[in-house]
Amino acid sequence: MAPMSDHEIKDDLPSNFIRSIIDRNLNENLYQNKKWIGSPGGASHHANAPLDSAKIRTRFPPEPNGYLHIGHAKSIFLNFGLARDYKGACHLRFDDTNPEKEDEEYVRSIIDNVQWLGFDWKFKDEDNLYYASSYFSFMHEAALSLIQSGDAYVDQQTADEIRENRGTLTAAGKNSPYRQQTVDENLTLFAAMKSGKQPDGAMVLRAKIDMASPNINMRDPAIYRIKHAEHHRTGNDWCIYPMYTFAHPIEDALEGITHSICTLEFEDQRPFYDWLLTKLKNNGLLTDPLPKQHEFARLNLTYVVLSKRRLIELVTNQHVSGWDDPRMPTLVGAKRRGYTPAGFKLFTDRIGVSKADSWIDYVTLEDAMREVLNTSCDRRVAVLDPIKLVISNYAEDQVEDCFAPNHPQDESRGKRVIKLTRELWIERQDFMIEPEKKYFRLYPGNQVRLRYGYVVNCTGYDVDKKGQVTTVYCEYLPDTKSGSAGADSVKVKGNIHWVSCKHAVEAKVNLYDRLFKVEHPGANSESYLDDINESSLTSITVQLEENLVNIKPMDQFQFERHGYFICDPDSSSKNIIMNRTVTLRDNWK
Ligand code: ATP
Ligand code: MG
Repeated sequence: MAPMSDHEIKDDLPSNFIRSIIDRNLNENLYQNKKWIGSPGGASHHANAPLDSAKIRTRFPPEPNGYLHIGHAKSIFLNFGLARDYKGACHLRFDDTNPEKEDEEYVRSIIDNVQWLGFDWKFKDEDNLYYASSYFSFMHEAALSLIQSGDAYVDQQTADEIRENRGTLTAAGKNSPYRQQTVDENLTLFAAMKSGKQPDGAMVLRAKIDMASPNINMRDPAIYRIKHAEHHRTGNDWCIYPMYTFAHPIEDALEGITHSICTLEFEDQRPFYDWLLTKLKNNGLLTDPLPKQHEFARLNLTYVVLSKRRLIELVTNQHVSGWDDPRMPTLVGAKRRGYTPAGFKLFTDRIGVSKADSWIDYVTLEDAMREVLNTSCDRRVAVLDPIKLVISNYAEDQVEDCFAPNHPQDESRGKRVIKLTRELWIERQDFMIEPEKKYFRLYPGNQVRLRYGYVVNCTGYDVDKKGQVTTVYCEYLPDTKSGSAGADSVKVKGNIHWVSCKHAVEAKVNLYDRLFKVEHPGANSESYLDDINESSLTSITVQLEENLVNIKPMDQFQFERHGYFICDPDSSSKNIIMNRTVTLRDNWK
């Protein structure tokens, strides 16, 4: 057996390349001298701190500019999951350095979502919920220190000039004429940027690296810009804001993050991440061990769009009823649809974490939800497209108890009573005047079992003027009740569900289909909006078994033979609304 280090890792954990990196880092004792005072800060803040008792620190750093989507769930399970498994801490950090699009409404929703998925940001007595905007002063100091060490300068070129002089993938960029300003000149200009007297875009602070670097991100990237905008937390304290690529590494460092896990599009930013933190360490603002960035493939899911910008568009253009429309791939939408945290956990475990971009079929997500709901949901009966079945030889006022198991694979969940009467609702599809091949359900002369009840023999039917069947007639065979001695005396091939007309509860059911008609919305059309499936919602009136009369919002059931359904938050006892989460089998063509 391999020697175990003091961080015990369970064997059944899904292994991935990030876990391998962490294992290696821990075995190298990379963090054995890491100090942490209990709150974020730079070198001086942690100078006299004890050793960090968290083995690793990760973070989930959403920008509060929209609602979280299913892609974020992958990142949440990864970051919080690693912290949990390695006895570390995962911080929830609002990356709110861009004042314009951010809002408290999003902050609240993100907090709810992370908790809903089963995580919190506590570690021992620490409450690791942070806002990047709390670090604006430190970031400003960091910028000053880079100017002082000759590693940053204020550029007064116009945005167009900066773009032109950046060069291309094949041609080196040109040095800015402002690149050789003295430290004092740069300090004065940076103070002018901060003074509020300069308009947006007049100047920008840039890191001084290498305009000929093959990595365009290293060609003197902008690190601070002027933006006269009110921030949702810092108000009008600042009119200069740090660029994301400058802010993010600093946020990680101040929070003592060990593994900064992000999606692949940031791979080219890693050299700047390391450059910046090393400079700030050399300038005495930070100390080792510095955080390291690791990239993984983002989740791409067929038939949906996973980008906050596009999701905002779907809501504002009213293609859906709101952020929590059950067709939306937002976590609030998924919740209302009946997708569960356990289902997301199974899904993310299955798709794993890799370094190569790929597309995951939406069916994989639905299968995970089905699997989890199959275990967690009790069964109930619902007739979605009702026609009447009359048992002619059953007395008009007779009522009889039938017993239906709440879960076919779990007897401990007990049984419930369903009342049998002379008139029942059955599915329109369970009767045919002229049966097609291999049709074993009701047709004149055929016998089927009324699930949990009797075998019945179909004797006739009524049609309306349009030829639509309105009522089916049958006679029951008294000795054949399910569970009785004679239950097996008559063999039938069909078994149909039903609810008593006298006892049934009427309800509205929302049947959801995919929001987009194609696997890759927008790939072969002018806009992804052109690929919207116009019939992604069908609402119908259905008949539920009487035991659902007291159903409460967010209660979930399997409706036998139909799929999984959740009671909508807008549902009430007078007006029951159910949303179909997913069908029993994948029948999407
Ligand atoms: P969007 O492109 O939808 O706006 P984003 O990346 O800008 O998403 P952030 O709020 O910055 O959203 O993301 C927070 C975290 O979630 C980041 O670490 C990001 O890498 C991760 N994340 C976002 N989208 C996905 C995805 N599709 N798959 C995996 N992780 C994701
Ligand atoms: Mg973003």
